Amino acid sequence: MKKLLLFFSVIFAIASCGSQNTKTIIVTTSNPIYAIIKEIAGPRVDVRYIIPSGASPHTYQPKPSDVYKSQAANVLIYAADNNDGWAAKLPGSRNLLQLVELLPREYWINYRGEKVSAADTTITSKNIDTHFWMDPLAVKAILPALADTLAKIDPQNAATYRTNAELFSNRLDLLHRQVDNILHNVKGKTVFLHHPSIMYMLQRYGLLYGGSIEEAPGKEPSPKYIASLIQKIKESGTKAIFNEPQLSDKAVKSIADEAKVSVYLLDPIGGTSGRENYQDLILFNARTLAKALAGD
Ligand SMILES: [Zn+2]
Repeated sequence: MKKLLLFFSVIFAIASCGSQNTKTIIVTTSNPIYAIIKEIAGPRVDVRYIIPSGASPHTYQPKPSDVYKSQAANVLIYAADNNDGWAAKLPGSRNLLQLVELLPREYWINYRGEKVSAADTTITSKNIDTHFWMDPLAVKAILPALADTLAKIDPQNAATYRTNAELFSNRLDLLHRQVDNILHNVKGKTVFLHHPSIMYMLQRYGLLYGGSIEEAPGKEPSPKYIASLIQKIKESGTKAIFNEPQLSDKAVKSIADEAKVSVYLLDPIGGTSGRENYQDLILFNARTLAKALAGD
């Protein structure tokens, strides 16, 4: 009898310990979102991600294991309907948060890398370039609304979200100054991309956008379009074009051969060694641009 009582008290202790330590589960789609949320979530929040590094969020096909992840989530966070919108269709009774909706309008840019004018009523958050995380100041701009939203969903961690958002905001100011320094000597240079992935960075730091192999994410280029892109690369006088780890390098290599330029790697997603946290992801891209364009 004593043994049985002891057994039940142990079980009870384990169960109550578990309930005290219940963590809020935030599931994010891809690494940049994960990296941002990690900065503001405290130790009582379990932040997870769906997409493995090396896969493109635009074309990702969710697996059965992603459905389990989504069902376990208290909050599911994705970038935008026209970026990783498949996440919104995953089953589960979780709160859904689309980050691009938190981005103030004055930060918006379109898929030609231009600022969206305040007077242009044809543009909404549904048809802007969604890769806003490539500008540290755009990330800073979403933090107050992000912390408030998470605080409402998860009141027990409200103070942590708000405090961490303020601290992260200060670190983003420092990062912005660091990136501005790194890119100082390549301002005004023209950049050709695989897909329009880092235009928020180009716009912020005064680099010019020359064009992409994919005009919009996932858009297959025609041979005619490729020929005109090669012409533009030659005319620009640039010595480099850029590939990304999430996309095939076949087209980039043949374009580079034809235009007689070098290929460098930019990474808008990260999640691999040295590009895991938000700051390292941004610095990797800034340093690559500075190195590749220095001789132009
Ligand atoms: Zn993209």
